[in-house]
Amino acid sequence: GVAIEARGLARTYGRGGGGHRALHDCSFRLPAGRVCALVGPNGAGKSTLLNLAAGLDRPGAGTLSVLGSRDPAAVRGRIAHVAQDKPLYPQLTVADTLWAGAELNPGRWDRATADRVAGTLPGTARVRALSGGQRTRLALALALGKRPELMLLDEPMADLDPLARHELMGVLMAEAAEHGTSIVMSSHILTELEGACDYLLFVDGGRVRLGGEAEDIVSAH
Ligand code: ADP
Ligand code: ADP
Repeated sequence: GVAIEARGLARTYGRGGGGHRALHDCSFRLPAGRVCALVGPNGAGKSTLLNLAAGLDRPGAGTLSVLGSRDPAAVRGRIAHVAQDKPLYPQLTVADTLWAGAELNPGRWDRATADRVAGTLPGTARVRALSGGQRTRLALALALGKRPELMLLDEPMADLDPLARHELMGVLMAEAAEHGTSIVMSSHILTELEGACDYLLFVDGGRVRLGGEAEDIVSAH
């Protein structure tokens, strides 16, 4: 199967001639079941692409198929999107946040995985009191608990220390291996994702410039 397929995809912010072309002429195909690194400098268009794939925003031109649908918003229930600012209710405790995750995903919630990933977090702490790394851990626990077919993670490793990064990478890779989950995670630092991803998409200046098997790309350069 194919997780994401883009043809001539474009997104411009703002109206008229002064619009900013955040993405343009993007055509690529990401096979399902891969752990894909979306790598490019700040401002390259990574968040824009992830927002489009999550059905949170609409392309200005071109087509984008996600999980076989031409309308990503229609398959949102099968997607977990973790934004860079990880919007979580700041006044809820960790335990209440996980409880809400279970309530909002009846019949689907993978409590064992969510609790395992959130394991070291203090259950009674409020989200607003958590560090950036702890918030990332909680956001990933919520995302994994949904048992999504596609995970779209915007700079998920940015706030993590190396040990937590290594651990959570392992969790994500195990998820992909066990359940065939497709995972796309962005970073402006390739080495942050190195070793964990088997597929690479490079984006720069609003264009996806190179994509393919990590093995092929790394050995050719
Ligand atoms: P990144 O670290 O990926 O570059 P940004 O800090 O640029 O992220 O963007 C964070 C959020 O702000 C995103 O939701 C993005 O869409 C929005 N954003 C970025 N640039 C602008 C801008 N020039 N005007 C309005 N919103 C923006
Ligand atoms: P990345 O995630 O790779 O840092 P983004 O997708 O956040 O890149 O942004 C791509 C470009 O679009 C940047 O120049 C950014 O400033 C601009 N941009 C992003 N979101 C908005 C927005 N909501 N309004 C205006 N410009 C935006």
